Amino acid sequence: MDRIAVFPGSFDPVTRGHESIIRRALPLFDKVIVAIGGNGEKKSFFPLEKRVEWLREIFANQPKIEIDTYSGLTVDFCKRNNITFILRGLRTAADFEFERSIGQMNKLMVPGIETIFLLCAPEYASLSSSIVRDIIRNGGDVKQFVPEGVAED
Ligand code: ADP
Repeated sequence: MDRIAVFPGSFDPVTRGHESIIRRALPLFDKVIVAIGGNGEKKSFFPLEKRVEWLREIFANQPKIEIDTYSGLTVDFCKRNNITFILRGLRTAADFEFERSIGQMNKLMVPGIETIFLLCAPEYASLSSSIVRDIIRNGGDVKQFVPEGVAED
């Protein structure tokens, strides 16, 4: 059976931290689906189409990576797509606490799905989409924090 993982997130915008986790996960899985989850209550900064376009561009040469979108629960997206692993990145203890609740609730809902955590690379430990958005809002340069295609836009 293929080992398929989903890396769910908002990617608003995708950062070098996300990119690093996705690339590092490739040897572990047969396929990694980067899935932008639609969260009805949360208004995004960048339109969904743009976020999809950036991800497609960044991983265009990587046949093991697919880009998708979904709404609703991540575990339901997994069931629909035969996904048995949820990939997440850990930066801080706060991330851990947040991820632990979600991972354990997901486990109670669908016992067959495992959440796999990769420790963030040290150079990206303070990087988040929300800080990148703040820098953009205030006219700063985010080139060093986001993949090339995103910076150009
Ligand atoms: P969410 O909407 O779930 O907060 P994000 O797009 O912010 O989604 O993050 C998706 C995943 O990427 C999460 O597992 C998060 O921990 C991870 N992540 C975010 N920023 C970084 C980073 N700088 N380094 C490693 N992982 C990261």
